[in-house]
Amino acid sequence: MLKRTVADLAPAELKGKRALVRVDFNVPLGEGGRVSDDTRIRAAIPTLQVLIKGGARVVLCSHLGRPKGGKPDPKYTLAPVAERLQELLKKPVAFCPTVVGAEAEAATRALGDGDVLLLENTRFEGGEEKNDAALSAAFAKLGDFYVNDAFGSAHRAHASTEGVAHLLSPAVAGLLMQKELEYLGSALDKPKRPFVAILGGSKISGKIDVIEALLPKVDALLVGGAMACTFYKAVGLETGTSLVEPDRLEMAAALVERAGTVLILPHDATVAPSIADGAKAHAVRKDEIPATEAMLDIGPDTAASYARAILSAKTVVWNGPMGVFETAPFDAGTKIIAQAMAQATAQGCITIVGGGDSAAAVEEAGLASKMSHVSTGGGASLEFLEGKVLPGVAALDNHTG
Ligand code: ADP
Ligand code: MG
Repeated sequence: MLKRTVADLAPAELKGKRALVRVDFNVPLGEGGRVSDDTRIRAAIPTLQVLIKGGARVVLCSHLGRPKGGKPDPKYTLAPVAERLQELLKKPVAFCPTVVGAEAEAATRALGDGDVLLLENTRFEGGEEKNDAALSAAFAKLGDFYVNDAFGSAHRAHASTEGVAHLLSPAVAGLLMQKELEYLGSALDKPKRPFVAILGGSKISGKIDVIEALLPKVDALLVGGAMACTFYKAVGLETGTSLVEPDRLEMAAALVERAGTVLILPHDATVAPSIADGAKAHAVRKDEIPATEAMLDIGPDTAASYARAILSAKTVVWNGPMGVFETAPFDAGTKIIAQAMAQATAQGCITIVGGGDSAAAVEEAGLASKMSHVSTGGGASLEFLEGKVLPGVAALDNHTG
């Protein structure tokens, strides 16, 4: 279901109205509490510009980190974010040291058209993660309409992401949210074919629902990462000291059986005695993994054949690194996949990267801008690919007509 967005709002719905905007400003804070990576703040700017240009009075809210016990903790204040946002927007950003209540409400009433206010960390309120009705009502007093641009939090039904959305109207998607829904949604609903999925990462257990959901939709599902080892073991191969999930073997065997030729396992592996033993890394066929070594990356032949599959696809969804990409030389497979994706994008293929570590790998390779879409929501993008309804999205107005 398509969602109404900020871009769909009429001038009269914006001008002079207080927009309560849920953003994802969950940024890392470094030395002196300064924002050490402002990617997420930058990502919200297109939505903020639409609101500011339209003369809305912008009231921003976000969580940051995991403050314990649902109470204020100066370690997780959003104050440094207000400072950084002010620099990026080149205009003043007021900061309210409380989340909701009389002071916050007065601060929203003091705004002029196009002004911007940032509220304190939503998780300083114990009701946030409980989706508490009273807190949702308190949030609703801070805006005349609602915008959700925090895709990465949309899989959680919290007061600022879900509860309040039912209390304000219109309740629309921000542009970043919209982009996520557009790319992930069209890949699942009407993919240009061939549609190839690449799944890796550490654990099959966290990705089983994604595999199940994607199998009937894709033309090929290429497996990498430690996940491949559980599949190997399930089909009777030696996996040495590789990371295997013994309690998932039966399920993995059943999946291989059911998936037929759509599910593709790596046919060679880069192995080593340990992650620290990069110098001893060597490639072996899948049936040659030594009993004393671990598979730490897909092998070079597999990487090359996965790259060919990517280059002949029209839609590619990638989640999960192909190996222990944090440590060379076990980053080789992941890099080759990232490069093939970048090349495929240039040829007109729709390429989508989801997952925190996968996104980090693509960033590190300097290829993020070469993908059609790098999802900002790790858990949210996985749940979306699993075909689950995200509560923060479901609560927004549907697009009519
Ligand atoms: P994402 O965050 O993209 O969804 P995951 O969190 O599922 O990805 O997996 C990322 C982790 O998987 C990385 O820390 C990486 O080191 C690990 N990993 C990948 N392949 C292997 C392997 N063969 N053995 C052990 N760990 C692996
Ligand atoms: Mg991860």
